[in-house]
Formats: sequence, C-alpha cells, structure tokens
Amino acid sequence: MKKRIAIFIQGTVQGVGFRPFIYRLARSYNLKGWVLNSPEGVMIEAEGNKSDLKNFLISIGQEKPDISFISSLEFKYLDLKDYDDFVIKKSENHSEPTVRIIPDIATCSKCRDEIFNPDDRRYLYPFTNCTNCGPRFSIIASLPYDRQNTTMKKFSMCSECRSEYENTENRRFHAQPNACPVCGPHIELWDSSKKILNKNIDAAAECVEFIKKGNIIALKGLGGFQLIADARNDDAIKLLRKRKYREEKPFAVMYPDIQMVKNDCDVSPLEERLLNSAQCPIVLLFAKDNDVSKFVAPGNPYLGVMIPYTPLHHILMKELGFPVIATSGNLSEEPICIDENEAISKLGNIADYFLVHNRPIERHVDDSIVRVINDRELILRRARGYAPLSVDIESNTKMLAVGGHLKNTIAVTGNKKFFLSQHIGNLGTPESYNTFQNTIEDFKRLYKTQPDCIICDMHPDYLSAKYSVKQSIEVKKIQHHIAHTFSCMFDNETEPPLLGVSWDGTGYGEDGKIWGGEFFIFDENGISRKAHFKYFKLPGGEICIKKINRIAFSLLNETGSDDSEKSDNLLSLNSKEKNLLREMLKRKINSPETSSVGRLFDGVAAVLGLRNQVNFEGQAAMELEFLTVNSDNDDYYDYKIENSKSTLIIDWRPIIDKIITEKINKLSLNSISVKFHNTLARIILDISKICGLKKVLLSGGCFQNKYLLEKTIKLLEQNNFKPYWHQRIPPNDGGISAGQAFSLIKS
Ligand code: ZN
Ligand code: ZN
Ligand code: FE
Repeated sequence: MKKRIAIFIQGTVQGVGFRPFIYRLARSYNLKGWVLNSPEGVMIEAEGNKSDLKNFLISIGQEKPDISFISSLEFKYLDLKDYDDFVIKKSENHSEPTVRIIPDIATCSKCRDEIFNPDDRRYLYPFTNCTNCGPRFSIIASLPYDRQNTTMKKFSMCSECRSEYENTENRRFHAQPNACPVCGPHIELWDSSKKILNKNIDAAAECVEFIKKGNIIALKGLGGFQLIADARNDDAIKLLRKRKYREEKPFAVMYPDIQMVKNDCDVSPLEERLLNSAQCPIVLLFAKDNDVSKFVAPGNPYLGVMIPYTPLHHILMKELGFPVIATSGNLSEEPICIDENEAISKLGNIADYFLVHNRPIERHVDDSIVRVINDRELILRRARGYAPLSVDIESNTKMLAVGGHLKNTIAVTGNKKFFLSQHIGNLGTPESYNTFQNTIEDFKRLYKTQPDCIICDMHPDYLSAKYSVKQSIEVKKIQHHIAHTFSCMFDNETEPPLLGVSWDGTGYGEDGKIWGGEFFIFDENGISRKAHFKYFKLPGGEICIKKINRIAFSLLNETGSDDSEKSDNLLSLNSKEKNLLREMLKRKINSPETSSVGRLFDGVAAVLGLRNQVNFEGQAAMELEFLTVNSDNDDYYDYKIENSKSTLIIDWRPIIDKIITEKINKLSLNSISVKFHNTLARIILDISKICGLKKVLLSGGCFQNKYLLEKTIKLLEQNNFKPYWHQRIPPNDGGISAGQAFSLIKS
C-alpha cells in the first residue's frame, strides 16, 4: 500500500551534499516527492510503498554523507498527495532567520572517540562536545544561542578551546558549550553531607566502584538528576524502591552499548535506529531472557532501554560493562531535580552518593520515551532530544495552552509558530505547579511572545485551569477528550469530516460526569458527542483510581452479580465492605458516574483477579495488555449499542457478564484479555460503520496499548476506513496542550 511520509531533519545537513544524497536514495527506492532546505533544517516528503519508505528512513542514518550529522530526525505518515517525480525543491528565501532552540543532542561518535583516546587532550573528559553534539535546550538561558546566553558563560575558554571555537575549519567552530579539562566544568563525588570524596576522573572511578557494590547514586546528568543502580542487583533495586516509595512502576535501564541491548531484548531495525539516534530516547523493547533483576519492571515483558548519551554516561558505562537502572531523580510526583543542593535535600534519603558537576542546568528535561507500534514510532513522552517541538502554522494567533493535569505539557503560539514544551509531569504538588508556571514564563520569554488568550481544560479543579482564570487575559475552555481528538488531527495534518475516538482514564465532561470512552463527530455542523460507554459509578470517587476492586464491584453491581457468590469468588472484599459499597452505589453517595474505558480496563483487571489495587497510573490496564502478548485470536464478546436521543450508548454489561462466567469456568486469562481487547476494537468498528465517516482518529491514553491500537487499525483498514493515530505528539495527556492550541488555531 502506498503511503506519504514527511521527514524533518536537523543537524549538520546543509551545505554537505545532503540534498543530492536524499535525491539519489529516494530514487533508488522508487519514491516520489521532494527534498527542501528550510531555516528549520532539511524537510523531505516521500511517497511510495510502506517497506521502501521504511528502508529509506533507516538508510538515511546509515548511508548519509560522512561530514553530515543528524541531531534530530522525526517523521510522520500523512495522506497521499500522488507526486509524480522526486525533485530537489528550491530553498525558500526567508529574509530573517527564525529563532530556533535546538534540543539536546547525544554525544557524537567523534567526541566519543576522543574521550577514549589516551593521547587526546579530552581523554575521559565528561563535558566533551562539539558543533554536532552536546547540551542545547538544557543550557540555553536566552536567545540568540551564544555562549554568553548559556549556563556555560561562567567558564571562559582556554586558548586551545578558543582557537577551536574561532576556526571555521574546526569541528568545534562556534560550538557554544565547548570545553576541556583545563577550562571547563568538572565532576565531584559527594556523600549526602556534601563532603567531597573525589574529583574529576577519580570521582567517576570511585562512583563506578560504589555502583558495583550495590549503592544508589544520584547523578547530575544533562537535563536533571538520575538515580543509578546496578540493574542486575535485586537488593539495590529493592532498596531504591523502598526509599523512593515506588513499589512497582518500571524503571528505565541504560545499557553500555547497543550490542548488549540486542543480547537482552528483541530489537527491530526501526527500534535500533531510535536507540542509536542523536535523540537517544528510552525505547520500550520486548525483553528476552536476561540478567536484569525482576524488580526493575515487575511482571512486565517490556524493558525501557536507552544507551549512553553524554560523555559522563559513556565513561561510567564503559567502566561498568553492565546495565544500570537510570530513573528520574525526583520525589514521586515532583519534577526532576536540576540543582545539586536541591538534590541533596530531596534525594539525601534515597541516594548513597552524589556524582555532581558545576555546569548549571537551565531547565529540567527528562528522558524521552518512545514505543514502536504497528511499525511506527509513537512518542509517549516528549522531552530530552525532542523538546521543544516547533511547527509552522498559518495562523498568527498568540495564545497559551496550559494542558491537562497528568503528564502536563504547555504550548504557546506566536509569529506563525507553534511550540510545545517538554514533559512537565503531574500537577499534584506545589513543586510541579511551580515548574509549570516557570515553564510558561520560560516559553514566553524564549520565544518573545505574549499570549492574548489562554486555553485550558473544562475541569474546574485543575490547577492549570485555576492558573488560567487568575491571568488577566481572555480564557477559553475546551473539553478534555475533544482536545485529545484535536491533538491527533494536528499530529496527522488531517481535517474533518471525521470520527474522533477518545479513550482514556479521566476527563471532565460537558455534563459534569467523568468522561473517557467517547466518540465525536467533527463535521460541517461542528463537534457532537456521537457515542459513549454506558455510565457506571465509582464508589468513593477518586479512590477508585487506586482501589480498582471497587470499580469491579460497581461493574458487578450494574450487572446484578454483586450479591451472589460470584462476587465472593471474584473480589477480595469482605461482606462489610461490600455492604458499604452497595449502599454508596444505591444512594449515590460520593459515587460519580463515568464512561471511562481506562476505568473499565481497571475493573476488568480486578474481576480477573490480576490485582485489587494499583500502584501507578495505568498499571492494571498494562497488565491486561501483557496478557495479550503472543496470544492473538479474533474472538470477541457480545455487547449492545442503545440509542438514547441522538446519542449511542455502548452497553458493556454483556461483556462483563461473559467475562465473569469465563473467569469462574477458569478459561485462560490470556484468551479472556484478548477477547476483551478485540471487543473494544469491534466497538470502534461498529460505531464507525454507523457514523459512516471514512476517517477515524484514535486518541487518548488507551491507545498507548499496542494490542488495542494494532487490532483497531487492522479492523478499520480491513473495512475500508482510514485510521489515524499518534506519531510525534503523545496520545496521552502530554498531547492535551497541543490539542487545546490546535482547536483555537482552527476556530
Ligand atoms: Zn561531538
Ligand atoms: Zn579549554
Ligand atoms: Fe486524557
């Protein structure tokens, strides 16, 4: 099947024979389209069959001209344009070069070679960088991007560094963070009382010994602190979990090199490209039999894996020679620490030692997370290497979009540009709310834009919404799930008429109920809520997000199974608890109604006995998804679609009834889970058929689920619908700000 792909490349790609290279490569794969130099970098559009496009993408990185360097490559699939040739387009003549903030770039191979060359003056120097690599977004204080405007301003270059910096022929010509052991930043190893144990390379060497002994290290990295421990050491991981109050949420793992990753995990060519890219994200990989402790990602068949991306990581990992966990250095729910004094006070009870340095971090940038689904990259968290995202838009509106409550990001527009911030996190603590406000000020200042209006979520209690009404400019509100659909539209550059499927855990609905299983029609008449899952109650409200057996009880109650011995069999609730819940449901005491598919996943997981409580958002749904691994089939459960006025109500009760029966009859959990997923995909197909719109957009946190997303895409395509899903903008609430902004751009 023919596809169109748009590729955005930044780095040393101009004036190095890059366009002719792309031209030849595209022709060799029989692709049509164009390549163009723009102020933002090289842009490519190519059409051809899917496998040729995939090989083309992978070959760009592998066969590019020697002197070129790709600091970021992103792509997305778009609707066909039916080009009839491949051409080099004339460069656009921009009178003014646009201000551009470049994401942080992983250490290039030339710098890496220098670090490990005993004869080089930067031998084992942890701050080695060049024009092609090193810190950017995390050190830029203001524009233009000059050393004086970065956190490197306090280091003055030695004569050798200066002559590199001034020599047009040198790889470090105008490399703003240029540094060496003589003039640049240095590392120190501290204990938790701030006592300096060692400096420079001895600090790294001692740190390595501590990690080998099972200690936990707080490492000042590129965009913030990371907590590091031997990933093979059960005791070290258990200790970290205990100290961090993080019971089961998976930790990311850093491997010394790609070969070791391949020994431990399945790695497709696309995943390998991502791991090796200069963006160097955490990639979710299917784990093979390996030595990584089962406490790293309990019950999870996947591992979040990355390879070293700074010289300091390279030096440590080469010495260690085994994988370590590398997780955000923060207290739970707070933003990642970026300052060593802050780290000592916050992480003093978590880390045994602190490997710090004196190059200040201007703003927090977490590690990014990506996953390959249906042979495409799906970004789950946009941060280091990817942030900030800048997109040209037609509109000249100046606005601020403040995002949602979980996985918050913000977006600003101005000067015909759209900018999306890095991942900020859950706005549940004063610290994260501070970071949220700082990021807004940061983006307004960096991009010299003053918004005329703010767009926020409808939820009256969201801190982001409360922030918005306090500002003295116009505030507009948009419903959460409608914003999700807008973000998917924006990501895919597609237009109504379309059906937006928006499924997640929580979002405030226009009727004051908790939405999360929504279908919207976007057409010439505007936006209408065409269908949703039948409401069910959450006894106790918010607490159900954690205590999912309460959701299960509510589902059983709705199907009339809560009284019988069925519920005794299924749920670990004593009769007193059950009576209490039953009363709450009956009298509607603190039992808000929801149509959330995320909560339905939770309830089904509890009915199946996977767990009664979750320790982190999405845990139960993930476990249901894991049951589908290697057990595909096409069976599904019956369900009903009812017509209420002009809205379709999806009655899930027959599904729950059947699941209860199958569970009691001891059918395999794998097949029950597969059938449940298939049923959800069927529901999307059926509603799509009723609506009769060709385009179906899949957005919301539920579509991080690989099985659900791939099954839905397949069913829709087999039935001649055109499914769209997320690519560069996360399907989860990290995409809400983009959706909010885009809804205003469109209106
Ligand atoms: Zn370099
Ligand atoms: Zn120097
Ligand atoms: Fe959401």
